[in-house]
Amino acid sequence: MGHAERSHALLGPSGAHRWMECPPSARLEEQFPDSTSEAAREGTLAHELAEIKVRHYFYTPDFGKRKYTTRLNKLKKEDLWQDEMERHTDEYLDYIKGTALNLKSAPYVAIEQKLDLTAWIPEGFGTADCVMVYGDTIHVFDFKYGKGVQVDAEQNPQMMIYALGAYAAYKILYPVKKICMTIIQPRIDHISEWSCTLDELLAFGEVVKEKAALAIEGKGDYHPGEKACRFCRAKAQCRARSDFNVKKAFGIGELPPLISTEEAGKRLIELRDVVKYQKDLQEWCLSECLAGKEVPGWKAVEGRSVRDWTDMDAAFDKLISTGVTLEEMLYEKKPLTLAQVEKMIGKKDFQEAVGEFIEKKAGKPTLVEESDKREAITNKVTAAQVFKEEN
Ligand code: SF4
Repeated sequence: MGHAERSHALLGPSGAHRWMECPPSARLEEQFPDSTSEAAREGTLAHELAEIKVRHYFYTPDFGKRKYTTRLNKLKKEDLWQDEMERHTDEYLDYIKGTALNLKSAPYVAIEQKLDLTAWIPEGFGTADCVMVYGDTIHVFDFKYGKGVQVDAEQNPQMMIYALGAYAAYKILYPVKKICMTIIQPRIDHISEWSCTLDELLAFGEVVKEKAALAIEGKGDYHPGEKACRFCRAKAQCRARSDFNVKKAFGIGELPPLISTEEAGKRLIELRDVVKYQKDLQEWCLSECLAGKEVPGWKAVEGRSVRDWTDMDAAFDKLISTGVTLEEMLYEKKPLTLAQVEKMIGKKDFQEAVGEFIEKKAGKPTLVEESDKREAITNKVTAAQVFKEEN
C-alpha cells in the first residue's frame, strides 16, 4: 500500500503529542476534514523514496535493481518530485546502513511495518519507517522530511509508541532490554537520538493506556498549548484554545506602568501562541466570509492586485518594431518592470502600444475590518482556492 493511501487511526502515533496532552482533541478533530497540505504530500513522496532505498539495500534479492528503478522512475513523474529528495533520502539510508554495519552480526530489519498497538491504544496501529532488532535492542528510525519544526527523539511520544508496537511484535523472538530511537531530519541537518530501558518504555505505555482510554471517549481536560494546538484541526474554533489565548492577551492590561526585562521575556514566550492563534482565527473567518456567512465586524475584500506582462518579449518586440523605443532602452541587467517601462515611455503611448499585453489579476481575498473602504466580496473564489494559492 502506498504511503498516501494509508488509513489513519483515530489515536495515531503521529498525533500522540496532542491527544496525550489534550485527550478530548481526538474526538473534537473528527468533525473537521483532514486536508492534506502540499508539504504533507511532498513528505509522503520523500518517504516512498526513502522506503524503496532501504528496501533495496536490505532486501536486494526480493527488491532488486529492476524493481527499484521502476519504482524510482514512477516517483520521479510525480508533480511534487524534486531532485534534492535523492540527496536527503540518501542521508537517511546512510544512517541506517551505518548503524547496521557497526553491529557484530546482521540485524533484523523491518521496513514500513504495520505495528499493532491495541495493548495500549483501542484500535491502535501505526507504521514505523524502519525498525531494527539486534541482540537485546529494538531501534526505531523515523525519517522526517519537514523543515519547519525541528523534532527531537527524547521522550518523543510518537517514537515511544512505535517502540511499544515493535516490542509487542518482537518480544517473543528477542530478549529486549534496551530501546533506541533516532529521528533523521536531513533538510535541516538534524539527527536526534535517544534511548531508554524497557522498564521506562513500559511505564510510558501505562500513561499511553490511561490517556488513550480518555481520548477514545472524548473525555479528559482540554489542555491548550503551542505544541498541542499547532496542527490540531480544531485549532481555529476550539473554545478552550480561544479562552486560553484571549485570557493571555487581555492579561496585558494588568501590567504595572513599567515592566522588567524578565517579565518582558516571560510574556513574550506566553504570547507566542496568541499571534498564531489570531492567524488561525483570521483564516477561518476569511473562509466563512467567502462562503457567504456573516462574521460580525468583518468582511472579505479583494487584496491588492498587481499588473504583470502576459508576454514581455512580445511587448518589447512591439515597442521596438513600432519605433516607440530602442532595444537598449528596454534592458538593463535585468528586465525593467512593467511600471518602469510605463514610466519611461509615458502612460498614453504605453497603453496604446502594449496595453493588450497587460492583465490585471484579481487580488487575493483579505480579511479587513468593516470600516475598510473596499467593497465586500463573497464567493468570488472558494476558501479552498485561496488557501491552495497561498500554499
Ligand atoms: S486546539 Fe488545542 S486545546 Fe483545542 S482541542 Fe486542539 S489541542 Fe486541544
